[in-house]
Amino acid sequence: MISVRCPHCHVGLKVDEGKLPPGISSFKCPKCKQSIPISILREQKHAYSGSDTTLVQPLKTGMGRLTVLADGDTPEQLLPLHEGITIIGRKSAASNATLGIATNDRSMSREHIRIEVKKDAKGGYKHYLSDNNSRNHTLYNSSFLEKGEVVVLNDNDEIVIGRTVIRFNE
Ligand SMILES: [Zn+2]
Repeated sequence: MISVRCPHCHVGLKVDEGKLPPGISSFKCPKCKQSIPISILREQKHAYSGSDTTLVQPLKTGMGRLTVLADGDTPEQLLPLHEGITIIGRKSAASNATLGIATNDRSMSREHIRIEVKKDAKGGYKHYLSDNNSRNHTLYNSSFLEKGEVVVLNDNDEIVIGRTVIRFNE
């Protein structure tokens, strides 16, 4: 836990560094709602220890990421997601996927799944998974997705495309 002062409104803030999502460069002050750069946590001049501190939480920018688990056909790969629609499948010159997975798993279609990331009312993100008319369909937490079915992803969900296992994390 790191105590800092907001550079904008000077309120004391407690930040749990372990809960910061990887890769973010700033977070919002819970009091004045202005953006505070992450680098402030490493600058001693803003260090502050007073009793009137506000706990910063949850620092959920909430953008999810996928981890492709390694097996005989596929090395482990980390796929960050972005707001909007991402099509994911086997990497190939003939693929129109937004995110290609380097794999020898031929049972994975080149444009296998679709994930749409949308902002929710609380300022976080929701991740909607659907099968993208793949040849061999998509397993979501051990059940096949129906044609047209859309599910909201939760932390540690498992997606299987072809023989390849992908884990979703928030
Ligand atoms: Zn502030």
